[in-house]
Order: sequence, then structure tokens, then C-alpha cells
Amino acid sequence: MTIDSVTDGVYRVGPGYVNSFIIDGDEGVVLVDTLLPKKEGIIANGLTGIGRSFDDVRAILITHSHADHSGSAAAVKSASHAGLYAAEADAAAIQGEIKPPSPPTPLYVKPLVFVMSFLPGPPPAEVDHFVSESSSDELPGDLRAVDTPGHTPGHTSYLLDRAGGVLFVGDAAKATKEGRVIRGYFNRSTPMIDNSLRHLAEFDFEIAAFGHSAPIESQASAAFRRFAQALR
Ligand SMILES: [Zn+2]
Repeated sequence: MTIDSVTDGVYRVGPGYVNSFIIDGDEGVVLVDTLLPKKEGIIANGLTGIGRSFDDVRAILITHSHADHSGSAAAVKSASHAGLYAAEADAAAIQGEIKPPSPPTPLYVKPLVFVMSFLPGPPPAEVDHFVSESSSDELPGDLRAVDTPGHTPGHTSYLLDRAGGVLFVGDAAKATKEGRVIRGYFNRSTPMIDNSLRHLAEFDFEIAAFGHSAPIESQASAAFRRFAQALR
């Protein structure tokens, strides 16, 4: 388990292959994503490591319905009594009413997807607040939602107004070790992902925090703009 400081009061916790984020502030703690099922202990340890606990959590934001992001949402919710936020288009999968959408897969990953289809879905977690770019009012004041469909239909990124802007990208993109923005894997729709990345390139943010790679810690929006320009 790792706990890394991303910037002032923003921490990355996780088992290494996927990240969850803790945003510490004067009014309590906001979590972004919850790792795989039964990984709430990693988040609890992260909170303890910064002198906080589940009692301090006031909101749980989910980027999308895949089990490595919403897996421990039910457990974190019941430990913290905080509200769960996600886009309406991914809510049915988070609530266990349908399976998270699987992407159209190239042949070489088909066996993996086949195996995954037999694994139980994450424990269902009720979504309390639907978020979208046009209605972020229910989110804590320093956060806004950015619609980034493509990886899943309701994939949402979150922009925090701190340290020049911190974008929680989710799986809308990944970063290379050199800090280049690239498409992530298992996208449901590549054209939609590319549109979402063009959209993210319209915002200004210093830092980008990803679901599956290390953060870009400076001039992150420029890296998104370079990706978007290369698409033309
Ligand atoms: Zn995903």
C-alpha cells in the first residue's frame, strides 16, 4: 500500500495498480474512488495516516462504475455515512442493477474479459447524488464535475480548485512515465474518449491525478492540449 502526497492536502492511496484519492480540507474529507471490493482498509489506513478517519468523510465521488473504482463504495459509505456521488448513466451499475459495461475488446484481451465476466460484481452501493457538468451544485464547493464519457457511458472527472487546479481524471486518460497523456485501456468508445479528452484540454489545471498512473504534477493541462492537438 502506498500513500503519496499529490499536493497540499491531496493524497493518493492504493495497492499500486489503481489509485484512490483523499482530499483533506477545513470542512472535512472528500474521497475520489474506492478501489476494488474489500479494499476499504487501505483507505482507512490512508485516512489514519493523515490524522483523519471515516468519521471525517463528507462525500465520496465516483468517476465510473468499474469494480476497481467503485468496489469498496458500499463499505466506505456504511463506515462513513457520507453521500455517494456519481453520474446517472453509471448509477445502475454502481447500484448492482446491471453489470458495468464491458468494452469492445481486441482478441488478445478476450480471455481476460471472459474470466472477469464470472467474477462477482462489487457490493451494490446506492448513489445519493447524481453529478453532471451542468449541475455540480450538490458537490462540495471547491469541486466541479466534468463529463468525460467514453471509458464508460457516465464516466466523470472532477476538478478541484486548489494549487492551480487538480483534475481527478479517473480512467478518461493515463499518463506515461514521461508525463505524456495517452488513452487508457478498456474504453467502451474511442471516439467518445477522444471528444472527452478534447473537452478536458479546454480547462486549466496544474495537476492531473489518474486512476492508473502517477500524477502529472505541473502544467498538466498543457499535456492534455498536446494530446488533443495531435488528434486533429
Ligand atoms: Zn475503468
